[in-house]
Amino acid sequence: MILELQKTIIYGPVFSRRLGSSLGLNILPAGEKVCPFNCVYCQYGWTNYKEDESLQRIFMPSVKDVEKSLKRVLRNQASPPRYLTFSGNGEASVHPDFGKMVDSVTRIRDRFIPDTKTAVLSNSCLAGKPEVRQALLKLDVRIMKLDCGLEEVFQRFNQPVSGINLDGITHALKTFPGICIQTLIAGGPIGNSQPENISAWLERLEKIKPAAVQIYTLDRGCPDDRVEPVSKNHLLSIRDKVRERGIKAEIY
Ligand code: SF4
Repeated sequence: MILELQKTIIYGPVFSRRLGSSLGLNILPAGEKVCPFNCVYCQYGWTNYKEDESLQRIFMPSVKDVEKSLKRVLRNQASPPRYLTFSGNGEASVHPDFGKMVDSVTRIRDRFIPDTKTAVLSNSCLAGKPEVRQALLKLDVRIMKLDCGLEEVFQRFNQPVSGINLDGITHALKTFPGICIQTLIAGGPIGNSQPENISAWLERLEKIKPAAVQIYTLDRGCPDDRVEPVSKNHLLSIRDKVRERGIKAEIY
């Protein structure tokens, strides 16, 4: 089953497989998925809005909207969440004011819930853009997507808008200290689990030198039935290959 899109700016707290208790920050429009990718496994279904031109036609929450919502929700929380996480309906860094959002959320965190960490779940596509890079560096935790090693698999599996390629993403990710890479592995005719793709992905990880790699498979519905979950043993064997290269890795 495809997940319903978030209808509010703040959602949760949700218990995420990777972060534990996390209050989600959806700085994208309510009920609309906005993403420069169109991953065949996306839990939110197919992407409608991905190009700059189409983004201009839809309503994005303002920094003030996010501040107001966050303060209101925090006032009613019994205990602070472990994380405040930019995630939600697609790729948060496409928001034209992403940098200002990060500054504002950080200020609110510092003032009201100083022990909470800020985080982002990103697909990495804009990591090379200077203003996005600067904003990402201000967050405590950056969990960045890298599902593929081969360009042709990336184009088929993540279906980015034109102009985004794996070499560009790899080059950008190499410049971040201490990032965590997130990788979804799927089988099936259009999956990314082929040995050649995994070998090329491992080579990219060696270049990026992440602090850790999170590996998981499908556990929800997805828009294309030509992908399927892989077994736990398959994930474990991939995890071990990452560890053999001296990089921390866990399956989720
Ligand atoms: S990057 Fe994330 S939100 Fe965007 S299409 Fe892929 S899975 Fe969906």
